[in-house]
Amino acid sequence: VSGGRVYNFSAGPACIYEDVLTTASSEMMNWENSGTSVMEMSHRGKEFMGIHAKAIADLRELLSIPDNYQVLFLQGGASLQFASIPLNLASAEDTADYVTTGSWGAKAIGEGKKFLKNANEAASTKSSGFTSIPATSEWSLSDDAKYVHICANETIQGVEFKTDVVPANGAPLIADMSSNFVSKPIDVSKYGIIYAGAQKNVGPAGLTVVIVRDDLIGNARADCPTMQNYAIMAENDSMYNTPPCYSIYMAGLVFDKLNKMGGLEAVEKVNIEKCAHIYDAIAGSDGFFNCPVDMTCRSAMNIPITIVNEDADKRAELEKAFIAEAGDLGMVALKGHRSVGGMRASIYNAMPIEGAEALAAFMKEFKAKHA
Ligand code: PLP
Repeated sequence: VSGGRVYNFSAGPACIYEDVLTTASSEMMNWENSGTSVMEMSHRGKEFMGIHAKAIADLRELLSIPDNYQVLFLQGGASLQFASIPLNLASAEDTADYVTTGSWGAKAIGEGKKFLKNANEAASTKSSGFTSIPATSEWSLSDDAKYVHICANETIQGVEFKTDVVPANGAPLIADMSSNFVSKPIDVSKYGIIYAGAQKNVGPAGLTVVIVRDDLIGNARADCPTMQNYAIMAENDSMYNTPPCYSIYMAGLVFDKLNKMGGLEAVEKVNIEKCAHIYDAIAGSDGFFNCPVDMTCRSAMNIPITIVNEDADKRAELEKAFIAEAGDLGMVALKGHRSVGGMRASIYNAMPIEGAEALAAFMKEFKAKHA
């Protein structure tokens, strides 16, 4: 790793493309001869309005977003969307379906229950430890559901929907894509709403991207907070109040770069190669390492890794050694989420392939030394 930087496997905030950081730093004091940093500009001035409009246009190009969808740049994180979705799409007496495949989906339905008479858990893989995606044919959907919610990639458990799915009840599909947003091509037209916090695949924290189909805008409850009302945000071009200007600027640099890299087909190709290095290292470890997730839905973004040992103390000791020794080699933030333990390698778009190769090579060495 050059310049004293490390391979950062953090789940978010996460690594950002180095050339994006370089551009941002070269423009820090004086953005395009405006004499100010983007951080210092009025959000109503022509400079920032241009940055904002270009970021939206570049994201539309990147995801081929159809014209009947609005792109909103909001705040409050994906977590606030857990509440905004029922508040905009359903009344307190309504029903919505949730498919729970990990910790974030569980949080989404937990919040949904506060705002809906019936937040129906149509499927859950909790009893088997959140290691799979249930087939759509197994979902117990409601005929009157206002929407069906999924988490497209569970950041903690490393479980990812590999295809765009279609709920059989015809309700709009709402997807939390926080941790696999713009990591691969998707068919936006299959979704009612896609939302994502920016701090994983896109840029700094503070920006929440919401892509919402026109017919789902304008139905908010009377008591929906103004800041959460999609119609008000859409009418005001996401500038009802002061937006997270700097995060939007950084996101714009990333969207522009992804388009120039050849779009999401090209991005996905590299992501598949990257995760294959690590999954192959697990598979080739003769059972020293394990990933508990079903082969069919292993995330390309977040890879949970455990060390197999019947002695729990020994296992904990080895996992601690793994994290420490990797850290000494400049590979950081590999500790698994506190709720599941073990290790986790988050390899979002900006993780270079060399980082995944280095981790895979280290796994081999670690096994040779400690097995
Ligand atoms: N959903 C998923 C899949 C996440 O990974 C996260 C954050 O890690 C969240 C939701 C919560 O996002 P935020 O911190 O932006 O509210």
